Amino acid sequence: MSDSCLFCRIVRREIPAAIVAETEHALAFRDIAPQAPVHVLVIPKAHVASLDAATDAAMLGHVVHLAAEVARAEGLAETGYRVVTNIGSDGGQSVAHLHFHVLGGRAMGWPPFPR
Ligand code: AMP
Repeated sequence: MSDSCLFCRIVRREIPAAIVAETEHALAFRDIAPQAPVHVLVIPKAHVASLDAATDAAMLGHVVHLAAEVARAEGLAETGYRVVTNIGSDGGQSVAHLHFHVLGGRAMGWPPFPR
Protein backbone atom coordinates (compact mmCIF):
# COMPACT_ATOMS: atom_id res chain seq x y z
CA MET A 1 0.00 0.00 0.00
CA SER A 2 1.13 3.48 -0.78
CA ASP A 3 -0.12 6.35 1.38
CA SER A 4 -0.53 8.82 -1.44
CA CYS A 5 -1.43 6.54 -4.36
CA LEU A 6 -4.89 7.47 -5.67
CA PHE A 7 -5.97 3.89 -6.34
CA CYS A 8 -4.62 2.64 -2.98
CA ARG A 9 -6.79 5.33 -1.42
CA ILE A 10 -9.81 3.99 -3.32
CA VAL A 11 -8.97 0.48 -2.04
CA ARG A 12 -8.91 1.90 1.51
CA ARG A 13 -12.25 3.70 0.83
CA GLU A 14 -10.61 7.08 1.54
CA ILE A 15 -11.81 8.30 -1.86
CA PRO A 16 -15.26 7.37 -3.16
CA ALA A 17 -15.60 5.22 -6.26
CA ALA A 18 -18.43 3.42 -8.01
CA ILE A 19 -17.32 -0.11 -7.17
CA VAL A 20 -18.76 -2.84 -9.39
CA ALA A 21 -16.85 -5.91 -8.14
CA GLU A 22 -14.48 -6.86 -5.37
CA THR A 23 -12.47 -9.92 -4.42
CA GLU A 24 -9.91 -10.50 -1.70
CA HIS A 25 -7.15 -9.32 -4.02
CA ALA A 26 -8.77 -7.07 -6.63
CA LEU A 27 -11.21 -4.20 -7.02
CA ALA A 28 -13.22 -3.01 -10.04
CA PHE A 29 -14.74 0.48 -10.22
CA ARG A 30 -16.08 2.82 -12.89
CA ASP A 31 -13.64 5.21 -14.53
CA ILE A 32 -14.35 8.81 -13.49
CA ALA A 33 -13.95 9.99 -17.12
CA PRO A 34 -15.49 7.19 -19.18
CA GLN A 35 -14.28 6.77 -22.76
CA ALA A 36 -17.07 4.32 -23.65
CA PRO A 37 -20.58 3.53 -22.34
CA VAL A 38 -18.90 0.95 -20.08
CA HIS A 39 -15.48 1.91 -18.71
CA VAL A 40 -14.38 0.04 -15.62
CA LEU A 41 -10.90 -0.11 -14.07
CA VAL A 42 -9.77 -3.40 -12.53
CA ILE A 43 -6.85 -3.18 -10.11
CA PRO A 44 -4.93 -5.35 -7.70
CA LYS A 45 -5.48 -4.22 -4.10
CA ALA A 46 -1.76 -4.47 -3.47
CA HIS A 47 0.23 -1.55 -4.82
CA VAL A 48 2.02 -2.40 -8.07
CA ALA A 49 3.13 0.55 -10.20
CA SER A 50 2.38 -0.95 -13.62
CA LEU A 51 2.46 -4.19 -15.59
CA ASP A 52 6.20 -3.61 -15.96
CA ALA A 53 6.62 -3.81 -12.17
CA ALA A 54 4.36 -6.82 -11.71
CA THR A 55 6.14 -9.99 -10.60
CA ASP A 56 3.22 -12.00 -9.21
CA ALA A 57 1.77 -14.03 -12.09
CA ALA A 58 -1.06 -15.40 -9.97
CA MET A 59 -2.12 -11.87 -9.03
CA LEU A 60 -2.07 -10.86 -12.71
CA GLY A 61 -4.17 -13.86 -13.66
CA HIS A 62 -6.63 -13.04 -10.90
CA VAL A 63 -7.00 -9.40 -11.98
CA VAL A 64 -7.37 -10.23 -15.69
CA HIS A 65 -9.89 -12.94 -14.84
CA LEU A 66 -11.91 -10.40 -12.86
CA ALA A 67 -11.76 -8.03 -15.87
CA ALA A 68 -13.46 -10.69 -18.01
CA GLU A 69 -16.03 -11.36 -15.29
CA VAL A 70 -16.82 -7.64 -15.07
CA ALA A 71 -17.20 -7.47 -18.86
CA ARG A 72 -19.66 -10.37 -18.78
CA ALA A 73 -21.58 -8.81 -15.89
CA GLU A 74 -21.77 -5.52 -17.80
CA GLY A 75 -23.28 -7.35 -20.78
CA LEU A 76 -20.29 -6.90 -23.09
CA ALA A 77 -19.48 -10.51 -23.91
CA GLU A 78 -21.86 -10.76 -26.90
CA THR A 79 -20.72 -7.68 -28.77
CA GLY A 80 -17.10 -7.63 -27.57
CA TYR A 81 -14.99 -5.23 -25.62
CA ARG A 82 -11.41 -4.16 -25.02
CA VAL A 83 -9.06 -4.65 -22.07
CA VAL A 84 -6.11 -2.24 -22.00
CA THR A 85 -3.30 -1.47 -19.60
CA ASN A 86 -1.11 1.56 -20.20
CA ILE A 87 2.51 1.44 -19.04
CA GLY A 88 4.69 4.49 -18.43
CA SER A 89 4.65 7.82 -20.20
CA ASP A 90 4.73 6.60 -23.80
CA GLY A 91 2.01 4.11 -22.90
CA GLY A 92 -0.16 6.98 -21.65
CA GLN A 93 -0.25 5.85 -18.02
CA SER A 94 -1.43 8.64 -15.72
CA VAL A 95 -2.01 6.73 -12.46
CA ALA A 96 0.98 4.71 -11.21
CA HIS A 97 -1.01 1.77 -9.83
CA LEU A 98 -1.54 -1.16 -12.21
CA HIS A 99 -5.01 -1.05 -13.74
CA PHE A 100 -6.77 -2.73 -16.61
CA HIS A 101 -9.33 -0.65 -18.47
CA VAL A 102 -12.43 -2.63 -19.50
CA LEU A 103 -14.06 -0.66 -22.31
CA GLY A 104 -17.21 -1.58 -24.18
CA GLY A 105 -20.64 -0.64 -25.40
CA ARG A 106 -19.34 0.91 -28.61
CA ALA A 107 -17.05 -0.10 -31.46
CA MET A 108 -13.38 0.65 -30.80
CA GLY A 109 -10.94 2.10 -33.29
CA TRP A 110 -7.66 0.44 -34.19
CA PRO A 111 -4.83 1.31 -33.98
CA PRO A 112 -5.37 3.08 -30.65
CA PHE A 113 -2.60 5.65 -30.85
CA PRO A 114 -3.77 8.68 -32.91
CA ARG A 115 -4.19 11.69 -30.63
P1 AMP B 1 -4.25 5.65 -17.28
O1 AMP B 1 -4.23 6.95 -18.03
O2 AMP B 1 -4.18 4.43 -18.14
O3 AMP B 1 -3.25 5.65 -16.15
O4 AMP B 1 -5.69 5.55 -16.62
C1 AMP B 1 -6.03 6.19 -15.44
C2 AMP B 1 -7.52 6.28 -15.43
O5 AMP B 1 -7.93 6.58 -14.11
C3 AMP B 1 -8.10 7.36 -16.34
O6 AMP B 1 -8.95 6.76 -17.31
C4 AMP B 1 -8.83 8.28 -15.37
O7 AMP B 1 -10.04 8.78 -15.91
C5 AMP B 1 -9.09 7.35 -14.20
N1 AMP B 1 -9.28 7.99 -12.91
C6 AMP B 1 -8.53 8.98 -12.38
N2 AMP B 1 -8.98 9.29 -11.14
C7 AMP B 1 -10.04 8.46 -10.90
C8 AMP B 1 -10.93 8.30 -9.80
N3 AMP B 1 -10.83 9.03 -8.68
N4 AMP B 1 -11.90 7.36 -9.91
C9 AMP B 1 -12.02 6.61 -11.02
N5 AMP B 1 -11.20 6.72 -12.09
C10 AMP B 1 -10.22 7.64 -12.04
